Amino acid sequence: MRFIMLIDMDYFFVACEEIRNPSLRSQPTIVGAHPKEGRGRGVVMTCNYVARKYGIHSAMPISTAYKLKPDAKFLPMDYLYYEQKSKEVMAIMGRYSEKIEQVSIDEAFLDVSGKVENGADAVSYAEKIKETIRKEAKLPCTIGISNSKLISKMACESAKPDGLRLVAESEITDFIKDMSVTKLYGVGGKTAERLERMGYRTIGELSRANVMQLMAEFGSFGLELHNHSLGIDESAVEGNYEVKSIGREKTFDSDTNDDVEILSALKELSKGVMSEVESQGFSFKVVTIKRRYSDFSEQLKSRSIRPSNSLDDMETAVLQLYKAQPKSLKKIRKIGVRVSGLTRYKSQKRLF
Ligand SMILES: [Mg+2]
Repeated sequence: MRFIMLIDMDYFFVACEEIRNPSLRSQPTIVGAHPKEGRGRGVVMTCNYVARKYGIHSAMPISTAYKLKPDAKFLPMDYLYYEQKSKEVMAIMGRYSEKIEQVSIDEAFLDVSGKVENGADAVSYAEKIKETIRKEAKLPCTIGISNSKLISKMACESAKPDGLRLVAESEITDFIKDMSVTKLYGVGGKTAERLERMGYRTIGELSRANVMQLMAEFGSFGLELHNHSLGIDESAVEGNYEVKSIGREKTFDSDTNDDVEILSALKELSKGVMSEVESQGFSFKVVTIKRRYSDFSEQLKSRSIRPSNSLDDMETAVLQLYKAQPKSLKKIRKIGVRVSGLTRYKSQKRLF
């Protein structure tokens, strides 16, 4: 039998801040965008459980959080520090299994099948991991255990914070049957609406659906959905698929060396890159611009910055890179903006 764990750090960014400043533990604390007295844009990245008592949660607009608790502690993201803590935690996990798949900055699957004999064993192994992370990295986490990634993720969610939960094979059906279909991988608002129209609101209802009907509606994803609703997920804990960079390019209608036209193209491209960076939950630390001239020669220029996920930082770097280059007589045919040095700080709903 397989034993797979999902280890997810609890309120990670704020928990990191609490190490540096223990007085935050008793105060509602939020890491995220600047609230600007309620006029701030952007969202809550993480908040501690004291803040949650006021109805604040992650992904909530920062302005809403401010309305709920204006005197909460609002802190900006300190990417470098969180990355360093993340590496520390992942290194600890890596001591307990070589089969480790990092899902986001604060979350990883471990296949521990070769390390434990049975459920009780798996639980005490998980307790050991929790204790070590608590002792060495000074951070709390929650661990879900089952025979699949899917159920371990759900088990983990149900045990938060500072929890540990094993869902044995015989318990899976009962564990998931009353949960909303939105708890399944890849089921967002739109898919949930379609499923609800078909009469499937809970996972139990979906498990009794006709597979052919689901496949007619969703293609091969329908089959996957049905398997997942039965608690079946055979996907393996694998090495990570890593996105290395995100970029956008534009070819001009006619070759140009007009600064206004080029700068406005760079601005557009930066926006496009940013929306992809945001939707994937990345921060970046290298910005590159690429010029292709009318003679098809190419030139790349890069600049390293402090890790960031703001459009302002990207645009500033792009502008500096553009201006650093003495103006060429050659006209530009195509221009591109690219960011790399990516770190995922937010887990994706769809993993496979
Ligand atoms: Mg987490």
